[in-house]
Order: sequence, then structure tokens, then C-alpha cells
Amino acid sequence: MARQSLILSKLIHMNLNEHVSVTDIHTLNSLPGDSYLDQFAGKIVVIKYGGNAMTDKKAQAGVLEQVAELKKAGVYPVVIHGGGPFIKALFDTSGIKSEFVDGHRITLKDSMEVVEQALSGKVNGMLVNQLNRLGANAVGISGKDGGMVQALKRTHQIKNENGTEEIDLGFVGDVELINTELPKLLIDNGYLPVISPVSSGADGEDYNINADMFAGHMAGALSAAAFVAITNVDGLMEDPSKPETRIESITADEAKSLFGTVIKGGMIPKVEACLIALEKGVPAAHIISGSTENSILRQLLTNQHVGTLIN
Ligand code: ADP
Ligand code: MG
Repeated sequence: MARQSLILSKLIHMNLNEHVSVTDIHTLNSLPGDSYLDQFAGKIVVIKYGGNAMTDKKAQAGVLEQVAELKKAGVYPVVIHGGGPFIKALFDTSGIKSEFVDGHRITLKDSMEVVEQALSGKVNGMLVNQLNRLGANAVGISGKDGGMVQALKRTHQIKNENGTEEIDLGFVGDVELINTELPKLLIDNGYLPVISPVSSGADGEDYNINADMFAGHMAGALSAAAFVAITNVDGLMEDPSKPETRIESITADEAKSLFGTVIKGGMIPKVEACLIALEKGVPAAHIISGSTENSILRQLLTNQHVGTLIN
């Protein structure tokens, strides 16, 4: 119990009293919070925090509190963030229109500058400030810092009646190379890296890498003990308009078969990111909502499945 912080003990208390059946209570009693925690203590957990889950201030505070709690409990969280609504707000003031293809934002040269201002500036600074107020020792960086991520212009293919067609997404990049020296240096020295996915290419251009894809690759490169994508829905659903159709647990192969039918829009790079992390040896990938109370801690440290587990 020594390592359990206030939120964690509250959570286990809550489990015992409200959310779990008698069998689960028994399991929880024999596997108290620390046993779950032992799985992650001293290990890296990569948390992708989606922009669409940042718009509610209370939910945002809840997410960041949990990240800070994990760090205090001896886990090494690494936060990688998106920032869709913040990009949109800056686009609106600059009169730039936004278009998405399969969850990737088409990014022209002048909009790339605005994307960088929103992600590496506004959102990154906001998260670092709040995490530091929670004592998390956060350091804001982007894929550019220390040459951490090298981007390569993405060749995006879509399937249509004519077969496969290539779409030019502009300055949208894929992760080409990762150098984990900088995040490891920060982690080893007690800092929590908060990473914007904006990265440069060998061609000297800046690229907007979808934050899910960036995070999936990073989870693999850092040999994370888990990959968690926090979004604005409770997980992968058979029918996104029906929350009760949430898939609690699915294998990578099963997930692959759902692209194009069940998995659409922003969920495409998110599930792809989970698959990349799993392929690179991360044992489990989760998609959860930032608005569900204590969703990170419940999904990782209890037997309550509030989101979707892919493994
Ligand atoms: P984020 O900012 O977290 O990356 P996105 O909007 O990019 O959020 O992706 C999440 C969105 O994906 C959901 O809000 C939902 O509209 C959409 N989506 C598409 N298919 C599904 C599905 N099968 N289950 C759940 N959400 C889905
Ligand atoms: Mg997205």
C-alpha cells in the first residue's frame, strides 16, 4: 500500500464498493492495487492524449491528474499529444480550411506553420504547465528536438472503384526513424516528456505526423509496457453512434479485419497505431475516453474495462 497515492487508494476503495461484482472483489482483494502497479512500476507507459479529449477543462484536469499520479507511483509516463480543436481554432482565425482523409489532416505549406504553432506551441505549453502544477516535472519537446523523430512525406493510398489511388496529403509525414536518446535521458533524470508530433524530414521540411501514429511508433521504440490512446469516445465501437456496442477486448488480427467497415475516420490511425505498438512488442494497447472518470487508472490498474483493449 505504501506506493498508493490518494487517487489510487480512492480508486480501489471505489472498486470495492461500487463497480465490481463479488468475484471481482475477491480478485481485487487477492490482487490489490500494488500488484497491478507492479506490472508498470519502473516501466514506460506511452499515453497519446487526443485533442478532441482536451476540450472539456474538467476532463482534461482529470486526465493530467492521473498521468501525474502514475508518475508519483513509480511509472514512467510519456505523453504524446494531438490538438485538433486547437489547430481548427487557429485555422479559423487565419481563414484556412481543414480537410481530413482517413483521419489524416491535409496540411499545405502555410497551414503547416499554423499546425506547429498550435501543437508545439499552444497545446504543448498548456499540458506542460498543468502537469508541472501537479508536480510531474514535465518537459515539452517535439519530434524535432535532439533529432528524435525523422519524418518522411506520407504516400497515402485510398481504395475506390478504380482500385488503389494515391492522395497527396501535403506536409503529412510518417515516422521514418526514431532516436530515443532524448526521451530516455529525460526519463532517467526524473522528467516526464510531453511530445508534440511535429517533426522534420531529411529533406529539411517540417511535417505534421498524425499523433496516434507518432505515439504508436514511439511506444514500440521505447519498449513501453502499455500504449494508451485517450480520445473522446469510450473505445472502438461496432457502431460509433451506439456506445453500448463498445468492443471490450479484441486481438490485433480481429482489429485488422474491421478497417473500412467498423473503423473509420480518426479511429483509423488510432487502431493502426495500436497495431504498430503491438507489432513492435508492446504487450497491450488501449483506447479509452478522457471524459470517463479515472479511465487510465481503471483500464490499466484494475479489472474494470472502461475502454477497448487490443492485444
Ligand atoms: P482524437 O483527437 O482523439 O485523435 P479523432 O476524432 O481523431 O480523435 O478520433 C476519434 C473519432 O473516431 C471518434 O470521435 C469517432 O467519431 C471516430 N470513429 C470512427 N470509427 C469509430 C468506431 N468504430 N468506434 C469509435 N469511434 C469511431
Ligand atoms: Mg485523431
